[in-house]
Amino acid sequence: MSHTHVEKSEGTPKRKSRVSRRNFLYTTAAGAAALALPGCRKSEPPVLSALAGDFDPLRSYPYRGWEDFYRKIWTWDKVVRSTHSANCTGSCSWKVYVRNGVMVREEQASDYPRISKDLPDYNPRGCQKGGCFVEYVYSPQRLRYPLIRTGARGEGKWRRASWDEALTLIAEKLLDNVYNYGPDTNTFFSVIPAMSPVSFCGGSRLAHYLGGVMLSFYDWYCDLPPGEPLTWGVQTEACECADWFNAKYIVLWGSNISQTRIPDAHFAFEARYNGAKIVAISPDFNSSCMHADLYWQINPGTDAALAMGVAKILMDENLMDVPYVKEQTDLPLLVVTGTRRFLRESDLKAGGKDDVFFVWDTKKSQPAATPGSMGSAEKTIRWNGVDPALTGSFRVMLADGNAAEVTTVFELLRSSLAAYPLEKVAQLTGLPAHEIQTFAREMGTRKPAMIIHGAGTNHWFHNDLTNRAMILLVALTGNVGKNGGGFNHYVGQERIWPEHGFFELAFPEGRKKQRFQNTTLWSYVHSASKDPHQYNGKPIEWYIQESVKNGWMPLWPAGGRKPRAFIVWRANYLNQAKGSEILETSLWRDLDLIVDINFRMDTTALYSDVVLPASSYYEKVDLNSTDCHSYIHTFGKALDPLFESKTDWDIFQALAQKISEVARRKGLQPFRDEKFEWSRDFTRLADDWTGKGSIVTDEQAADFILSHSKETQGMTYRNLQAQPKRFVATDEEAWNSDIEEGIAYTPFKHQVDKKRPWRTLTGRQQFYIDHPWYLELDEALPAYKEPIPEKFPLYWNTPHGRWSIHSTWRDHRAMLRLQRGMPIVYMHPDDARKRGLRDNDWVRIFNDIGQCVCRLQILPGEKPGRVTMYHGWEKFLGFQQGGWQSLTYIKIKPTQLIGKYGHVNFRLNYWGPTGNNRDIKVEVEKARVKA
Ligand code: SF4
Repeated sequence: MSHTHVEKSEGTPKRKSRVSRRNFLYTTAAGAAALALPGCRKSEPPVLSALAGDFDPLRSYPYRGWEDFYRKIWTWDKVVRSTHSANCTGSCSWKVYVRNGVMVREEQASDYPRISKDLPDYNPRGCQKGGCFVEYVYSPQRLRYPLIRTGARGEGKWRRASWDEALTLIAEKLLDNVYNYGPDTNTFFSVIPAMSPVSFCGGSRLAHYLGGVMLSFYDWYCDLPPGEPLTWGVQTEACECADWFNAKYIVLWGSNISQTRIPDAHFAFEARYNGAKIVAISPDFNSSCMHADLYWQINPGTDAALAMGVAKILMDENLMDVPYVKEQTDLPLLVVTGTRRFLRESDLKAGGKDDVFFVWDTKKSQPAATPGSMGSAEKTIRWNGVDPALTGSFRVMLADGNAAEVTTVFELLRSSLAAYPLEKVAQLTGLPAHEIQTFAREMGTRKPAMIIHGAGTNHWFHNDLTNRAMILLVALTGNVGKNGGGFNHYVGQERIWPEHGFFELAFPEGRKKQRFQNTTLWSYVHSASKDPHQYNGKPIEWYIQESVKNGWMPLWPAGGRKPRAFIVWRANYLNQAKGSEILETSLWRDLDLIVDINFRMDTTALYSDVVLPASSYYEKVDLNSTDCHSYIHTFGKALDPLFESKTDWDIFQALAQKISEVARRKGLQPFRDEKFEWSRDFTRLADDWTGKGSIVTDEQAADFILSHSKETQGMTYRNLQAQPKRFVATDEEAWNSDIEEGIAYTPFKHQVDKKRPWRTLTGRQQFYIDHPWYLELDEALPAYKEPIPEKFPLYWNTPHGRWSIHSTWRDHRAMLRLQRGMPIVYMHPDDARKRGLRDNDWVRIFNDIGQCVCRLQILPGEKPGRVTMYHGWEKFLGFQQGGWQSLTYIKIKPTQLIGKYGHVNFRLNYWGPTGNNRDIKVEVEKARVKA
């Protein structure tokens, strides 16, 4: 039709005094035929000149109904402030608009108080996912009623159930397990308390009173950087993102902040206006790399080699902060050359302590005890008149009368760094030698310097060694514990700021009376997972047995029994599990009851037996905080829970009531839990769960957390609902810096400024771990070890992406429209050419573990030798076969199984084997898929 119109117009161009909106749109829509339009020939005046003068395209437009409809979106009855909890680390403040009982849209609230006029502020915060959550609230995948499975697991056959029926079924099974198989056969899995602690505590309180097992999440998802507990004795501590602006040198190392820290990436890029230089290190040229001053396309899995090479240059060229190194690190500590163990007080005198260590005092030429170690009476790390030697070998007289040679950790490190000459590091990493040298020199001289670290490097098997090598760089240069400096790791909202109140609410009788379990170990042992590799000639099973036998790692249920019930809330265990098909056909199959509490039908829900509908983020009362900023704020109820959904808090309260009711009906006698010497009277469980009626509502629970934490003194749910508030203080038992007025939070000022001991065995940033397994496996010091060998040619890379937060929003209509709308794998053109593959081909990705079939996208920014699929795709979202976790499997690192070593002990989400997934390799071939 437009073509006809154009033909008619040709040859008789008419100047109109006014262009109607219809004609204007007509002209625009006919863009493809533009060359035939009036005004598009050299001989004719440009058509846009006709728009001058009295021009109102709306005057003659007849169809105005859609405009009214659109305008109504911008009217509302009420506005409620809320946020999202998908473990995005954003913790952004949003306004939700409601009209006639319907949520119509959200908008960034921009209400964070500013820390200082010298820092960019946090407003407005948000991302594109948060901007369309309201559609999720009413989407087809929203769970509306309790469901009980009628077909096979995963088949999608359900019947609607009443709350009473569903809760009775669950309560009876949980009690049956306690009395017949043991309370440790009931397992509970939920993630990230910081993103909605009240919702987390609802379930953890129930697990606590039932004697059930609480699984970890941070290590299982491999977000825990194990180098931090090893070196610093902390789970993870990072500066808030405003502190990035204070840096003069920022290294984006395995962290793609443009995609995964959308609300905060600006702080790093604005730091360039403050004199910062940005270096991006990543195998692919991702969307953060384009903002960098220097981009390095490093070979996958070689980051520790680079860090060790740079550490060597820092030492060789004396680019270190020597006073800092002597005071803040274990590098001056003495090690007995023969045993490779630290020199301890127990070596020097009978009855001496095992946790008091020594340096060589150059002033007195004799050993001097280091203040601030775990066994030291002195609670400072300040050297009083002692000048510790960094280099040299010395002789000491041992308690048994023999002399022994000792040297410093610094000397041992220096000799181990000899294995990383510049040319070798350049060859391993694929980076230019002269640029590595420049980088080292800048790292040593531009202060403060920080590493922003993420999953890209942390998801590898040797993540602990890589972490430790990177921390070494910022420690040698004196950057840890200073604003704008340090090693700052962000993969998840792993830690909750008001920690004390949270733990009191989550585990009311204390954490010592709770069964905790590392999920990586649990998933491996209770499934058919099998790591084929040997470690020092021994299978991983040997290390697991030793660890459990020594009491280093717990393993529940104890004594070879199987878990029987699995309750999941605020998480998507099955979709995110390494080797998901292996687990599905073993651990999952063996479970008698799987319950999923969720607001949408995700993979875990689909493969469950009972699904309970939870309220969405905008229908609940809760709290929210993140490592990325120093504020706390709330979830507000824009509407009461929709359909038949309930908040997580109310669901677990209803379940507690139902358990009490069933226990009374069955006349159950109290269960004697010998482990804790606890007589559990389940007829009173509902009363216990509500704190004898003192914490009944979710608002009371939120207020309990706030009032029992130093960070949130004076705050209530109600007054936080108006606006986010900055924390007022930090609990010194939990945190390593103060909250300071006008200054961005950064950790470890207590150690650097106040000279308090680090939370490690030696009281220092500890780079030397002299545990027997570390010595045996040659990991006492940071080192580079090659990725676990796999026989296939292409690394399988599954990073966090732009269009989802893990699996949440993966199935969201608006997000799917911003991409190809189904799982795709990215491949470098050279790799595609070698395999005869073309863009958008169906491909089969496979290895010895499994396979998946999806579409291919050719991407020049990808690294040859690697393929990438952004993670989180639900199994039902367009794979022709398998899923992104079909190719992975659980590989437990032996050294991460140790315990009872000073500061290295199992603690939930602090220390335990990580579920790494980057050392996996695959092959890709064209797949035959029927259209
Ligand atoms: S999803 Fe997370 S990052 Fe995005 S707007 Fe919500 S809270 Fe912020």
